[in-house]
Formats: sequence, structure tokens, C-alpha cells
Amino acid sequence: MDVDECLRTSSEAERDEVKKRGCLRRFGFLFLLLSLLFLLTQAPFILRRYQLASLRDSIEALKPQRAANPDEDYRDYKGVIHVHSMLGGHSTGNLEDIFKAARANELDFVVMTEHSERFTNTSEATIRGTHDGTLFVGGNELSNGHGDRLLVIPGTNDSTGTTSTAEYIERQKASGKLVFIAYPHEFQSWSAGGYDGLEIYNIYTNAKRINAPLMFFDGLWSYGSYADLLFARFYERPAENLKRWDKLTSSNDTRRINAIAGNDAHANIGVALRTDSGDQVFGFQLDPYERMFRILRNHVVLEKNQPLTQDSLLEALRAGHSYFSFDLFSDATGFLFTAEDTDEKRIMGDELKLDGEVRLKVYTPLRSHIKLFRNGEVARQAHATAAHEFVVRERGVYRVEIYLPQLEMIKDKPWIVSNPIYVR
Ligand SMILES: [Zn+2]
Repeated sequence: MDVDECLRTSSEAERDEVKKRGCLRRFGFLFLLLSLLFLLTQAPFILRRYQLASLRDSIEALKPQRAANPDEDYRDYKGVIHVHSMLGGHSTGNLEDIFKAARANELDFVVMTEHSERFTNTSEATIRGTHDGTLFVGGNELSNGHGDRLLVIPGTNDSTGTTSTAEYIERQKASGKLVFIAYPHEFQSWSAGGYDGLEIYNIYTNAKRINAPLMFFDGLWSYGSYADLLFARFYERPAENLKRWDKLTSSNDTRRINAIAGNDAHANIGVALRTDSGDQVFGFQLDPYERMFRILRNHVVLEKNQPLTQDSLLEALRAGHSYFSFDLFSDATGFLFTAEDTDEKRIMGDELKLDGEVRLKVYTPLRSHIKLFRNGEVARQAHATAAHEFVVRERGVYRVEIYLPQLEMIKDKPWIVSNPIYVR
């Protein structure tokens, strides 16, 4: 190799080296830029994680503030309504998981509402009877194929077939069943009467409105520590159903229509990131039974000495001696809505004749914001109190919604929704 050739080769090597360094610098810069962009897009979710932490702390701070209900005439039993297992298809949950979830939540009752199957009576095959202190009732969720869906409790082998919804309800009521309209926003046969009530709130219906990308990143940052509280991210007051219910109750002088809330637990709602071949890269389940049973409950109120049995539970639900509450934010046990005049005392679900004035009393286990509704409109309010008496002198359908302004994130969403007292 001569000198010229040698010089040429070394300068080529230097040029390559310089090129390489330039490339590396560009890659480094791109990486930094992308990391910065990622951090910028994730900042809101880090903040949202912090908000859930502060919600958790506020919930914890409420625990020692609970007040006992001074009214000792009644006892409160908590449970869940509208639960599916794998028996009726499109659920993967087994009965053992449901039993364990009920025990973990110390529930007094669980009302199963299995989908019907052609060759099995699913309401008989499901978990029933009292097991370790929880009463299980076997019911069904039935559909007539035209958008009408009913919860029939206890369940039945009598299929809807081609019967009209009105006729079908009548038949179930005649055989002593409870009938609730599930998914009222899809229900068509409003001319039908005789049903016991409406499912005013349903977790599954609410979850269908989840913004999936938002929930995905919320999950990425918060699922590990605050899986339960992610519910607060999508919980919405069921305004449309409440309006529908208020309209039905206040436009009728004789009918009483009760509200229940459905957990609609299937153990099948989740958010996941998958590859083209369907393998899950990252994901999480939003609705294991134990969590679903913690979020939302129906409470029934029985006279103090009356034990909880299938009959007394169904009778309380029929009479509307019940309310529903988002117990995830604080157990509502002890809430009570009563009405008294000079010689009678009644509770939510009951009727009272107006004779001068009626004293409507509200007890809540925590200092709350109480909204008293009359015929669907907020008539009166009380702030920061655990007990309040509203004296009313007008006929109407009165119900209360209870709010917890101490919990910033859900301060505009009800914690408790009571059944009405009908002042006729
Ligand atoms: Zn269902």
C-alpha cells in the first residue's frame, strides 16, 4: 500500500466514524423526544392516580365518623340483586366465586338472576338457600326478544314465548313472583302494569359508557393500587331512569313502583391491549364478583324482630322497604327514611294519608347532603347533617337522595337513593 492509498483509507474511516456518531446523536435525541412526549401524555393519568389516592384517604377518614341510627325499630340487611353465573351463558363465573365474594363482603343476601336455558331450569340449578350466613335466592333474567327484559324472582321455567310482556307480567304476578323491569332504557311495553319496580341503576349499563382508551391508561397507572376506586371514574347518576321512575310514580294515584339497583355481575368486563393474534399484552378485569358486590348494594329494612328469610326479603322488596347505595364510598347500613303523623309511622315504600302534616325523617350513618324530592323535583335540602326532619303539608311522592360532598370526586353523584313515601 502506498502513502496516498493509506491516507485515503484513514480519512474514509474517520468519515464513517463521524457519520456513526451523528446517527447515534439523532437516535438519542429522538428517544428523548419520544420519552418526553410519552411523559406529557401520561401526566394527566399520574394526576388522576393521585386523585384516587386522595379519594381513598377521604373514604378512610369517614370511617370513625359513623353515627348510629337512633331509630331502633328496624334492622338493615345488605345484599346484591342481578347476578349471573356461567349457568345462563355469557358469563365465566362459577358458583364458588359468587359464594366467596358474598362472604368477603359479609352480604346478608344475594339475588341470582340467571339467564334461562332451554334444557335446564337455571334458577333452580343456581346457588340457593343460606350458606354461612348469606341467603341466596334463585331468580331469572328473561327477555321476550323485543327489547323487554324482566327480572323474575324467584325464577321460573315458564318461558316468555310469544306472550306479550303485559300478559307475561300478569302471569308471573299471579303465581306470586316479584317482577322488576331490567334495563328500563330499552324497555318497550310501558303500557304494561303490575310489575313491582324498575332497575334504576345497573353497573353493566353504566360500564358500557366507559371511554376505553381513558380507562386503559387509568388502569395502567391506578389498577395496581386502586382497582376498586376506578369505578368512581365512570360512575354516573342514572338521571334518565330516575326521571322515568319519578314520572311513573307521580302520575299515578294508586300504584307504587319500587327502585332496585342491579350489579349485573357476570365477571366478564375488562380492558385489554392485544396483539393481532389475540394474545393479551396488558389488561385488567373490572368486574370480579368480589369488587362488584362491594361497589353497589340494595339494603332492605325489616322490623327489628323479624328474621331475614326468603319470604321476608321478597316481601320487603315487594313493599319497597329498601334503598340502594354505592357502598364502595361508605357502607350505608343504618340509613332510614320514615314518615310520621300523629298516629302512624311508616317507612320508605309505604303510603300515608295526609292529615294536616307529615314529618319525613332521614337518618344517614354519615354527615351528608340530603335532597328531598317531591314528584321528581328537589323540594327541600339539608346540608352537613346525619339526621333531619322535613315537615310537609302537601300530597306527593317523596323520596331522598343522599350525597357525600366530603368525597370531592363524587360530590355530585348520589351515595344513597331511597324508595319513596307516598303521601296521598
Ligand atoms: Zn343481566
